[in-house]
Amino acid sequence: MSRDLAEVSPGVWVATAAIWTSNTTVVVDDDGGALVIDPGITRTELDSLADAIHGRGWRVVAGLSTHPHWDHVLWALSLGDVPRFASPAAIAALASDVERCWAEASSVDPAHDRALFGALTPIGRLAGAPVGTEVPLGLPAPHHCHVVSHRAHAPGHVALVARGVLVAGDMLSDVEVPLLDVGPGRDAARAPADPLADYEQALDVLERAVAVHDVDVLVPGHGTVAVGRPAVRRRFEADRAYLRELRAASAGRPGRGQAPMADPRLADAWVAGEHAAQAAFLGARHG
Ligand SMILES: [Zn+2]
Repeated sequence: MSRDLAEVSPGVWVATAAIWTSNTTVVVDDDGGALVIDPGITRTELDSLADAIHGRGWRVVAGLSTHPHWDHVLWALSLGDVPRFASPAAIAALASDVERCWAEASSVDPAHDRALFGALTPIGRLAGAPVGTEVPLGLPAPHHCHVVSHRAHAPGHVALVARGVLVAGDMLSDVEVPLLDVGPGRDAARAPADPLADYEQALDVLERAVAVHDVDVLVPGHGTVAVGRPAVRRRFEADRAYLRELRAASAGRPGRGQAPMADPRLADAWVAGEHAAQAAFLGARHG
């Protein structure tokens, strides 16, 4: 079986997983060299992605994990023994929490290979770099691939910009509200000082990348691909509106009733639960 790949822009292909509408992006050079970003959730998906890539005559030259959550650091040997890049901060964060992350991955699919889980190569040029730093991904990735680093959602999160497409990782989704970094496994003691400000800053960084690179397609880690500049702009507007309301609610006095948010993404029970958890986290921080 081979996975369906849809070309969302010349040389940029997306496969959507059965679980959580998770998106895998494949950026392909003219010579067939392919960069695979966040390859999938189940072992079957990884292997069938490899079939799809090889069936088109391409070969995987590198991988990229956008951030250190378990569903973004999986791999299978069928995709090839190639470097899988991530930011140094993401690699450090995963290393500090790898057994919990592996337990989640292997509970969803026991067929995953522990030896390949989170076996990542640091993007050296991001070492010690300030938030918003943009660097070329470099060889062996296809040409014209840049990554932008920030701290929203997870430590060392990167977005990829290639050929007018922003591969956003777990941000700018039409099915998930912005999910703050509230600590590994919701361990608030290990959360950053101000994850809401980190998130707002990341949106600034990504919006600048959209302008500089003339982006008109956006691939979120989960949800629907946004096609066209107005659709891309609306993703930013929706996330900023959510964060404004979240900030206002968290600044309110504890115990005072808050009007429910109008964000349609909260209709999903899982998203609503994540929203409630991060609202409680912020309330505790500010209370
Ligand atoms: Zn994530």
